[in-house]
Amino acid sequence: MSYVRREAFLPFTRPMVGQEEIAEIIDSIESGWITTGPKSGRFEEALQAYNGVPHCLVMNSATTAQEITLQCLGIRPGDEVITTALTWVSTLSTILLQGGVPVLVDIDPATLNLDAAKLEAAITPRTKGIIPVHLTGLPAPMDEVWRVAQAHGLWVVEDAAQAMGASYRGRKIGSDPRSVFSVYSFHPNKNMTTGEGGGIAFHDGAFEARIKRLRFHGIERDAWKRQSKEGSPHFDVTEPARKANFMDLQAAMGIHQIKKLDGFNTRRGLLFRRYLELLEDVEALVLPVPGDEVHQHCFHLFVARIRPEVAGMDRDAFVARLKEENIGTGIHYRPAHVHSFYRDFYREHPHALPGDGLPHTEWSGDRLMSLPLWPGLTEDDQDQVVAAIRHVLAN
Ligand SMILES: *Cc1c(COP(=O)(O)O)cnc(C)c1O
Repeated sequence: MSYVRREAFLPFTRPMVGQEEIAEIIDSIESGWITTGPKSGRFEEALQAYNGVPHCLVMNSATTAQEITLQCLGIRPGDEVITTALTWVSTLSTILLQGGVPVLVDIDPATLNLDAAKLEAAITPRTKGIIPVHLTGLPAPMDEVWRVAQAHGLWVVEDAAQAMGASYRGRKIGSDPRSVFSVYSFHPNKNMTTGEGGGIAFHDGAFEARIKRLRFHGIERDAWKRQSKEGSPHFDVTEPARKANFMDLQAAMGIHQIKKLDGFNTRRGLLFRRYLELLEDVEALVLPVPGDEVHQHCFHLFVARIRPEVAGMDRDAFVARLKEENIGTGIHYRPAHVHSFYRDFYREHPHALPGDGLPHTEWSGDRLMSLPLWPGLTEDDQDQVVAAIRHVLAN
């Protein structure tokens, strides 16, 4: 069959929002509860039930959620937190904004997640915690992370922004109490969305009141109840805090998205495995691993890496050629430490990088691209992606 270029541009992802979400949003508008209200509470309960966690609170983004977790843990200036550079920059910036220092370890090139064998060497007397990232929706090596954390008295906060629906040893990400907090994202590119939004899963109920204060002006009580019959008009502010509350308009989407999540992820898994089969013989690409019994993938991203020496072009040239063929791709991510702010930061804080640098992070960071993957992608779309890849490589 000869190659024919796609007519319409194919993006690398697209949110899956249906009539149920639309009707629920209209219901919220008509009810008069547009911002934080009863649907936000219902969404939090649905998240607790789905993830098997006793507590989950939602706010405006995973970035804010992560910053609040670090505030709850009481990071002080100079405290060190170990994480990876192959992540969205908010994993690092939230540490810095609380006065901490993000100490970077290299990734395992097979999984793109942190290499647990590198953790111990990164620990100093100032180390307070570890933030593993479940990049692409593939769980990080948590047994080793928890073992090292326990041996050195460190806390663990999981960056689960890409991991809604993923499980570790059969348990949903966020459900293991060995991590103090796990943070989810509901950005439109993630496996389920509320437009924007983030959530914190936790096990110690003592954090509940603090998180509620930190997401809303430092006010202790559910402020929305002030306007309802059972509420009193009085409230007290006990500390300064940001305004990062979640709207019922967002929850209206969330309570339907979470019911659809397993179906979405099943479909993502089918497409992920189909890519693996269709691209198996393409020498120019390093394909991702599909996870295993321990690391149960939610198939957020299909990240392929290009071998420029085989392809005859580098990643940026390849991505540009695919775009000419109307195939979109994403870059998840350009490693944090190569952005200009962080380049300067690590020049001034060389101890926060390993002595031998981050060779695997940089190797993958230069070569990776996310191929189109979302539940609404058709097999025909996918065949066109694969045909375009073969066409670009052959010409
Ligand atoms: C998307 C993402 C975030 C940030 O999520 P927001 O809800 O946009 O703040 C953090 N970490 C990782 C790994 C992400 O993919």
